[in-house]
Amino acid sequence: MNDCVFCKIIKGDIPAQKVYEGQHVIAFLDIAPTSPGHTLVVPKAHHENLITTPHDVACHCLDAIRKIAPAIVSATGTEGFNIGLNNGQAAGQAVFHTHFHIIPRITNDGLINWPHSKYKPGEAEKMQKLIVHALDSP
Ligand code: 5GP
Ligand code: ZN
Repeated sequence: MNDCVFCKIIKGDIPAQKVYEGQHVIAFLDIAPTSPGHTLVVPKAHHENLITTPHDVACHCLDAIRKIAPAIVSATGTEGFNIGLNNGQAAGQAVFHTHFHIIPRITNDGLINWPHSKYKPGEAEKMQKLIVHALDSP
């Protein structure tokens, strides 16, 4: 993809702070980190989002995450990490080349992942039925 910023990084056309490169996956520091060490794990093949990414490619990404995330925690002196993936514009996806965020965390670092709410009586059961029905009739 000519106009994809991550394809350009993969090709070496624009610089990035690369922390890992394997046969199928590359990882580099996010240019605007949530916290120091915030890393993007990116398949070398261009796919728009997680749902259009083939199974084997997604598995390679997960393998890379399992390898890289502990190294990030160790290198940053943190205690844990979040894995994030924004799927679709409404979810905050800005770069339409599949990528996972690894965000290192420490206890009480003030980062709020997402707010919680409550279902009204009967709403959770209704929602469950809708999702199960959608899974049964793709
Ligand atoms: P998204 O919102 O699509 O899940 O995340 C895209 C991420 O890519 C953002 O966190 C943004 O800071 C990062 N990003 C965008 N352009 C560049 C770039 O040119 N280099 C690097 N290293 N990160 C980028
Ligand atoms: Zn791309």
